Amino acid sequence: MSPASPPSTKAIQRRGLMLVISSPSGAGKSTIARNLLEADPQMSISVSVTTRNRRPSEIEGRHYFFKSIREFEGLRQTDALLEWAEVHGNFYGTPRDAVEEAMAEGRDMLFDIDWQGAQQLQEKMGGDVVSIFILPPSMAELQSRLHRRAEDTEEVIQTRLANSRSEIEHWIEYDYIVVNEDLNSAFASVKAIVEAERLRRDRRPGLFEFVNGLLTETPKL
Ligand code: GDP
Ligand code: ADP
Ligand code: 5GP
Repeated sequence: MSPASPPSTKAIQRRGLMLVISSPSGAGKSTIARNLLEADPQMSISVSVTTRNRRPSEIEGRHYFFKSIREFEGLRQTDALLEWAEVHGNFYGTPRDAVEEAMAEGRDMLFDIDWQGAQQLQEKMGGDVVSIFILPPSMAELQSRLHRRAEDTEEVIQTRLANSRSEIEHWIEYDYIVVNEDLNSAFASVKAIVEAERLRRDRRPGLFEFVNGLLTETPKL
């Protein structure tokens, strides 16, 4: 009888991770998300639709799909949005198709969405969701980052600052909390969370086959 072949580690398939990152505006979630996308080829981002005005640095289809309120209504009514919310006086939503495609293929996806979106994803997708809340080191620093970003009008900055307290109040609903004082160390924390979550047993159904293979393997002496 020939010995059973050693198990292939390729069989260790994994369920895709839905990584939700929220924070008050200006705490650095888009910066951390961008760094993660650059550093991690397994991660892609869910590009939201929004009714807000495009910022000078933003590119249609990469940062957002910019829509009129009427177009947004149409997407909502045809159930094309997995979740949606009104944030800082504009509508934002997550297109359903891209998420379902990624999950069906076991790919990881990043969501830069607010607490209302995080709650809806948690309800709909349960165990596949991992959520991180990014806190600023102080409210004074949050304010100066919004000014330094120099992408919004003073009026928009004031609305976002006024809303920051009610966003922060939801911190307790998240799995992980990262204080973004030093960007490099906040980014390292987010990477560590992703690495650990990818190793979770319950996300890796393929492990059963691998371990069975290990237990039935007959080593050549
Ligand atoms: P370009 O050729 O210089 O425009 O480079 P890329 O198009 O490859 O990406 C530019 C930057 O955008 C990189 O930092 C990417 O990580 C980031 N990026 C790529 N796709 C997305 C996306 O869907 N959303 C966001 N927010 N950033 C993205
Ligand atoms: P958000 O997506 O949460 O609204 P951004 O990622 O746009 O925030 O960050 C707001 C501003 O703060 C940007 O100009 C960014 O470059 C800057 N920033 C992000 N993290 C840090 C940090 N740790 N220290 C200093 N400035 C930061
Ligand atoms: P910004 O205008 O700064 O890009 O985003 C404003 C807020 O809307 C942020 O808190 C961001 O996370 C949130 N947001 C962006 N896209 C979505 C989305 O598709 N759904 C929800 N619920 N929130 C979103």
